[in-house]
Formats: sequence, structure tokens, C-alpha cells
Amino acid sequence: MKRGIRLASILLVFICLSLALLTAWQVWFSRERALQELNVANLNLAQALDNYTEGVIRQSELVLIDLAERMQYSGLAVHEQERLQALLQQQSEVLGLANAIVIYDEQGNRLLASTLPPGHNLNAADRAFFIHHRNDPSTGTFIGPTIKSRITGDWVFTVSRRLNDGEGRFAGVVAVTLGVEHFLSFFGSLDLGKHGSMSLSTGDAKLLFRQPFREQDVGLDWSDSPILQQLREHREGTSVQTSRIDGVERVYAFRRNDRLPLITIVALGRDDALAAWRRNAELFTALIMLLLAAVSIIGQYLIVDIRRRSRAEAQLLNAREELLDANARLEVLASQDGLTDLANRRSFDQTLEMEIRRAQRRGSSLSLLLFDIDMFKRYNDHYGHVAGDDCLRAVAEVLKQCVRRPGDLAARYGGEELAVILPNTTLEGAEAVAKSFMQSLEQRDLEHQASPFTRITVSAGVANLTADQRDSMRQALALIEAADQALYRAKNNGRNRLESTGVHA
Ligand code: GH3
Ligand code: MG
Ligand code: MG
Repeated sequence: MKRGIRLASILLVFICLSLALLTAWQVWFSRERALQELNVANLNLAQALDNYTEGVIRQSELVLIDLAERMQYSGLAVHEQERLQALLQQQSEVLGLANAIVIYDEQGNRLLASTLPPGHNLNAADRAFFIHHRNDPSTGTFIGPTIKSRITGDWVFTVSRRLNDGEGRFAGVVAVTLGVEHFLSFFGSLDLGKHGSMSLSTGDAKLLFRQPFREQDVGLDWSDSPILQQLREHREGTSVQTSRIDGVERVYAFRRNDRLPLITIVALGRDDALAAWRRNAELFTALIMLLLAAVSIIGQYLIVDIRRRSRAEAQLLNAREELLDANARLEVLASQDGLTDLANRRSFDQTLEMEIRRAQRRGSSLSLLLFDIDMFKRYNDHYGHVAGDDCLRAVAEVLKQCVRRPGDLAARYGGEELAVILPNTTLEGAEAVAKSFMQSLEQRDLEHQASPFTRITVSAGVANLTADQRDSMRQALALIEAADQALYRAKNNGRNRLESTGVHA
């Protein structure tokens, strides 16, 4: 039963541990999957924004290429100015997002602008895009940092090209200024949750703008971020990081444009992103906890039940053993004589009949001794009844010493008469046992003043049975009768002596 309890306990622990491990694995796995799905969605979004930005800049480039070509070959003759001004205004309207299209001379002076009448002179010589083109002979498109427009006060960034004169010398710059506001309203129309953010940066990791917008973030250099490390090796990627701008942990997806030096980043607050997963995980874990509690309670009941049964079984076993003990004691009591501890008359009768049958089966001989204490009445009269009992016990003790072969049975036949059944024993053998007892009694020398022998003596009758009687009961009686007669003769012949008779079929 202890084993049963141990097994039940092991099973219970095993089930609980398995469930707990499975839950942990499932929760972890679903979190990984949620992040994976989120990353895919974010990367798609980053690509869409990147495409959008690239489209806007490509349109601006087309305008710039056209303008640069016109300026290079036609110059800005006075009669051209009006026509070009009209064209700039038209192009600017078509571009939509453009804050302004501007042409600067080699000094940085504004020659023409889409949104302002000519002559409104503002110098851009200190602007990064202008300095870049002045110093860099290449005529490729340059995306400048975000700046605050001196005319409108809006946040803009520039897409610009260098103008060369006939000899390839620096002759000015054509630029499209793109209003950050337009991008912010487009980016802002996408729902990225409470802590979501989107940003556009130049190829060297300087922030052009970020949604949600803050002035102090403009131009932020994040070139030391691991995101840039990743983008050096791959075109796009994802990571989980804490934002340096607002300290919120976010799930980032980022993409470098294939053609332009632009980086688009989409980020979702980690807590927002995993909210659905967390809700599911909490529900699932709570359910499993309930299940675990139920399994534990049922298991406990099971163990308590096994324990109770095992206790009941142990009690039953104890009771059975006690019963067996009591039976054995009863059996002894039922077969033993209370005074002398010899076998009693009942046991004697049963044994005698059994031994007679056995002797018949085997064709062996069987002997019976009968002893009667001589003049015991006088002993009682002389020493008292209690002393008589003691004396009987002493005589029985001497008899027990003389009858020691297994299978022999010494019994109290009645009153002061004792009997011994000797299986497989001849008449001579039986006589020898009887004599040995009488001698031992002589040596024991129990005083009996009222007897002519002055000590306790017995008269003995020996009878022997040989072979094939059919009725064991009758034979038992015959054997006892014969031993009794022999005993009677012993009494008649003066007591303290032995007489024998053989019984034959
Ligand atoms: P004998 O056999 O020599 O002819 O004389 P006896 O006096 O022994 O003969 P009897 O059979 O007349 O007396 C037997 C006596 O044994 C009677 C009884 O007082 C005594 N006796 C029998 N059983 C017990 C017993 O259990 N205890 C005691 N103290 N005496 C017993
Ligand atoms: Mg007697
Ligand atoms: Mg007697």
C-alpha cells in the first residue's frame, strides 16, 4: 500500500509538472509567434512608407532634373524668368507635398521660388544643402537635413541638385523643400497604438522627422544604435529596444531604401504589441492553474483514500492475526489438561483413534500405557487436596521427561490416572518406557507416608496392538480395556508394578 501511495504521489507530481512545463512552453511559444507576426506586419508597413517617401522624392527629382537642365542650357535670361516662375508654380502645385521649389545662384541668393514673387531675396549660403553642393562637384540628388523655413517657419527638408555653368563650375542649386507636416499627417493617419512611432532618417542616421513630432528630436544622431549596425549588413531588420527619445521599450522594424540614402523605422510599444498575447496567456495560465488545482485536490483525495484503505487493511490483518493467536490458544486449551499441562482426555481419544488407523495402514504396532497412582485417596486424606494436586503435577512432570519421542502422547486419562500412546512401538519397547518412568518416579521420591512404599508409586498396565483391525473405534476400546485389565492386575498383584497384555485381531 505504501508503494501505491508513492506511485500515486509520483503520478500526481508528474502530471502537475508536465502541465506546468507545457503551459510555460505554450506561453513562450505563442509570445514568439505573436512577435514574429508583429515583425512581419511592421516590416510590411516600413516598406510601404519607404515606397511612399521614395515616390515623393522621385517626383521632386524629376522636377529638379528638368530645372537643372533648363538652367544649364538656357540660363536665366530676364525674358525667361517669368516663364520659369509660372512653371515652378505649376510644378509645385502638381507635386502637392512640396513646400517650395527654389533656384539659388552661386552666392546662395534666391533667384526664383515657386511660392514667392522674385526679388524677395533670402540667402541660403549657410544651409547644409547649399554648402554640400558648393563643395561637392557631383550633380546627383542630395537629401538635406530637416530645417525650419525662414519664410514660412515650417519644418522642411530639402531635395536638391547642383547647377554647373558651361565650364562645369558651381553656378547654384535647385532645391525642392518638402514640408514635414505633409509626411506627419500621412504617417499619423496610420494607427500604431498608444506608444507607436514612425520615423524617417537620412542614410547616416540623422533624424529627419518622427511621428509623434517633437522639435528637439529633429536632426537627432542615432548612428551609434545597433539598428544601424544591422542595416549595414541587411536591407531591413527587426529588434526590441528601449527608445532613447522617450525611454519606451518598442518592437522596431526598419528598412534602408535601395536607391536613396533614407531609413524608415516603424515601432510599436512592446506592451501594446503583446497586449493580446498577454491577455490570452493570462487566461490560458489561469485555466491551467484551475486544472492543476483540480488534479491536486483529486490526487490528495486519492492518496487519503489509499491511506485509509491501507490502514483498514492493516487493522484487518492485525485482527486476523489476533484471531489466529486466539484460535491457537483455544486449541491448546481445548487439547490440554489444565492441572498437569499434559494432553487432556479429549485429545487422548482423538489421537488414539488416529494412531490406530495409521498403525493399520502401515501395518505397524501401537502400544498404550496406563498408570494409576497407588493409594492416592489416602494421599489426599493425609496431605490434603491441594497437596494432592501438587503431587499430580509433579508426577506428570516426571512422565513428560520420560516420553520425549515425537509422536508419543502423554495424557491425563482421568483423576489420578495417566496414559501414554506410543505409536510404532512394540510391547517390549512400551514396557521399557513404563519402567523408565517408574524408575524416574522412584528417583524423584515423592513422599507418601500413608503408603506402604512411603513414596508415590504407580501401577502400570501396558497393552499392545498389532495389525489389521478394521474398526478403529472398537480397537481403541479394546486396547484401553486391555491396558486397564493389565493395570487392574498390577493393582491386585500388590501395586507399584507393571502388567502387560497384547491385543490381537
Ligand atoms: P488405588 O488406586 O491404589 O487402588 O487407591 P486409590 O486411593 O488411588 O484409589 P481410588 O481410585 O479409590 O481413589 C482415587 C483418588 O484420587 C480419589 C480422589 O480423591 C483422588 N483424585 C482423583 N483426581 C484427583 C485430583 O485431581 N486431585 C486430587 N488432589 N485428588 C484426585
Ligand atoms: Mg484411580
Ligand atoms: Mg489410584
